[in-house]
Amino acid sequence: MELFEYKAFELAQMLTDKQISSSELVSAFINRINTVDKKLNAFITKCFDDALEQARIIDQKRVSGANLPLIAGIPIGIKDNISVKGLKMTCGSKMLENYVAPYDAAVIEKLRQSGGIMLGKLNMDEFAMGSSNQTSYFGACRDPYDTSKVSGGSSGGCAAAVSAGEAACALGSDTGGSIRQPSAFCGTVGFKPTYGTVSRYGLTAFASSFDQIGTVCKCVKDTAMLFDVISDKDHRDSTSVDKKYNCYNSLCSDAYGLKIGVPRELFESVSHPDIIDSFNRSVNLFKDTGAQIIDISIENTKLALAAYYVISSAEASSNLGRFDGVRFGYRAKDCKDINDIFIRSRTQGFGDECKRRIMLGTFVLSAGFYDDYYKKALAAAKMITKRLDSLFEQVDIIALPTSPETAFAVGDKLDDPVKMYQSDVFTVFANIAGIPAISVPCGVDKNGLPIGLQLMSKRFDEQVLLNAAYAFESAFEGIPKPRL
Ligand code: GLN
Repeated sequence: MELFEYKAFELAQMLTDKQISSSELVSAFINRINTVDKKLNAFITKCFDDALEQARIIDQKRVSGANLPLIAGIPIGIKDNISVKGLKMTCGSKMLENYVAPYDAAVIEKLRQSGGIMLGKLNMDEFAMGSSNQTSYFGACRDPYDTSKVSGGSSGGCAAAVSAGEAACALGSDTGGSIRQPSAFCGTVGFKPTYGTVSRYGLTAFASSFDQIGTVCKCVKDTAMLFDVISDKDHRDSTSVDKKYNCYNSLCSDAYGLKIGVPRELFESVSHPDIIDSFNRSVNLFKDTGAQIIDISIENTKLALAAYYVISSAEASSNLGRFDGVRFGYRAKDCKDINDIFIRSRTQGFGDECKRRIMLGTFVLSAGFYDDYYKKALAAAKMITKRLDSLFEQVDIIALPTSPETAFAVGDKLDDPVKMYQSDVFTVFANIAGIPAISVPCGVDKNGLPIGLQLMSKRFDEQVLLNAAYAFESAFEGIPKPRL
């Protein structure tokens, strides 16, 4: 087996036992990126020299007997909407094509303190708006299982890179499913923690009340390892909660007695029979391990997607206001006056999807329509949150498919935004309610494309959620690796 094929926790063990050095490991990943990224387009910016230098420093520390954190020396990829000091942060947009981040995001500080090694910045839908990575100014990122298919979005670069062995693990962001859906498409484990458990300081805001930094990994154990590193209270993010996790050491694969709720009403929107099959098989596997399966109804589920797109676009229209060619971002040439700068810079700097969200958001917030759309969406979101809270008094976990479909062809759905938005039907609940959710591979369709199983738990129940995912992963035979 090649080094890039190992899971991060296995690599951590090999590093600790001094079977390999971090320099060797980083070189192996760089080689892999150089070989496969032409086909995938997962990286927007690479920082190999710095990565090798950091690896050398970690190796030196280890040789001199230092007791290092597990993540020390492990090569990691970062979604390109998270600030890394001195590196470009494009957010997948022409608007920020030449923007260099002047400071580290809170999660990057944490990675650096633990000795994690950054390989570069990963491709994404423009400003994290999209479900296929096709809205990126830098071109679509492709699925390692079939490069004629999309990697999913918006954290498509994270999922493709981890799946293809271009990074041992990655940090992404999830506003409505952007970590979980691409993870389902690329056969990785994608985890969105409880809102507030990971600082958003240094994450470019899309919809601030839904945005959450999370992880993309090869397995649940790696997920717990990386989550423990990044979760903490941060006074620079006013929504950050005072909680530090230690999930890795407490991970347990026993699902006996676990109550799993299954909302079958939602499956009407799944037209793909292989997804229903894999889901049913997954539920049976849980049953075999001693979990109790309970039929539940989330109710008002049809409102979730509409509420998500109204609220997230409203927040986006405000958050993207700073990209005007003056405060931040691309500036159009030969402008007549200040208004001309704003109009032409934004017209030329933003892609179609961003403009669509800005227009939609501005519309739903406008005096004449606020009550009809924005206020109603907030009420719907509150109702859904209340319902989920009451369901978690009956069950420990809610299980759903991650996505109603498997990876679709590059070029598909681009001219039908509403169809694209349907990709998020199963994922937006977790962001609306601020609860944690994870997608784990649970099968492949008849074309060999990965399928994801999504599990959700109540707020701050990360340990229960990761244990459930770990129990499933331990009982499940796994899916084949991509052949690239
Ligand atoms: N696909 C969803 C959207 O376009 C979710 C994006 C995300 O989670 N960043 O809004």
